[in-house]
Amino acid sequence: MRPRISFQGAAGEVTGSRHLLESGATRVLLDCGLFQGGRETEQRNQASFPFYASFVNAVVLSHAHLDHSGRLPQLVAEGFSGPIYCTPATRELLGILLKDAALLQERDVEWENRRRRRSGRPLLEPLYDLDDVHRTLDLCRPLEYCQYQQIGSDLRLRFLDAGHILGAAIAELEIEHPDGRIQLVYSGDLGNPETLLMHHPEVPARADWVIMESTYGDRDHQPLGDTKEELAGILQRAHERQGNVLIPAFAVGRTQEVLYHLALLGREGRLPQQKVYLDSPMAIEVTGVYLGYLRLLDTSDLGALTANGRYTVPEALDFLTPTPTAEESIALNRIKGGAVIIAGSGMCEGGRIRHHLKHNLWQRNAELVIVGYQAEGTLGRTLVDGARQVHLLGEDIQVNAAISTLGGYSAHAGRSQLLAWARAIGGEPRFCLVHGESGARDALCNALREQPGRPVTCPERNEVVELVR
Ligand code: ZN
Repeated sequence: MRPRISFQGAAGEVTGSRHLLESGATRVLLDCGLFQGGRETEQRNQASFPFYASFVNAVVLSHAHLDHSGRLPQLVAEGFSGPIYCTPATRELLGILLKDAALLQERDVEWENRRRRRSGRPLLEPLYDLDDVHRTLDLCRPLEYCQYQQIGSDLRLRFLDAGHILGAAIAELEIEHPDGRIQLVYSGDLGNPETLLMHHPEVPARADWVIMESTYGDRDHQPLGDTKEELAGILQRAHERQGNVLIPAFAVGRTQEVLYHLALLGREGRLPQQKVYLDSPMAIEVTGVYLGYLRLLDTSDLGALTANGRYTVPEALDFLTPTPTAEESIALNRIKGGAVIIAGSGMCEGGRIRHHLKHNLWQRNAELVIVGYQAEGTLGRTLVDGARQVHLLGEDIQVNAAISTLGGYSAHAGRSQLLAWARAIGGEPRFCLVHGESGARDALCNALREQPGRPVTCPERNEVVELVR
């Protein structure tokens, strides 16, 4: 049998990344992510895997984001007991994210089951619990960038830096086959070379096949320099009007980018706020992991922050007050004005940001700063779209605060950056595009096809592609 890949998720969509590589007797799963989005999409997480979990020899995990990792505990619960290869930083972030996911599911299911009990409907089970998460973490085998790892008799794995979030990796897999060796590259999520703190995504020297993400295959991002200036303007305006600045942000990546910009502005004497609160237990923990892996971060970004070593990074963050406990968070409601509050969730769908929105949205001097993509149907999107009133924690709240969207923060490569990465890979690779909605994916596909000798396909969900040489 020729080596082959089945594309089981993130094929024509951006969540649920999961691709099964079969070569000889070896079966390797590339990522095992949650489907995220509307109720219908998330329903797909309930289904069993279309293979015996115990037949899978190993998992190669590109990075910790739940749309790439969030179904691993389910895989383990279904009988997978092999190694999960990931970078050491990914292993640490994974622990934080999976535990949070398990607790959230438990809470949501409990809430739904209360309604179901009252109406006599069958009860739901959470997808997994904390025990499954612990067993999953025990299977993680940390692999540093550039180290080789043999998998089975015919596969060899190496991670390159994807520059997306801390620990994110591009997987290079060498497949030994009687017809000759096949070099397969799985991009995972590719970073935006402008992303703060992260390196540029590394370019594999050569490949025969590339499974490549296409999230922003149809557009480029706003330059990051403009974003910092816009943020400075908002901080100044809020300071003059004595209003609070609320920044909803996801815990991994975006929060650290925003903190970095705040720290730089602080260095430049342009952070007039006396207090910046990081009001998310998860973001506090994740920021701690970032601080533990400074060696993986971009040295020129860190140099700008520390004035080339005159300060330590923690000193550069001395403006920051973490508020891990619920009491500390509630105390922030009494702040009259002049503070910056960073809290989750990033799309205002849950988390502590909702309390802060309730206490601030109606105030004319408050500022809401949107720093990430807001999916349709979320409270964040409703606010960005200009709603004058929202229903929040049981109350109708007037929206009088100023709402700004800062478009430059993105942990994903934009269109030009994706094309440059793909074109720099040596050999004559064929591309399979994944992790993109159809418009973005088709746009990238058309652009890649302009370069002769590089065939491109856009596999449908569950499509199987044979890896010919
Ligand atoms: Zn990601």
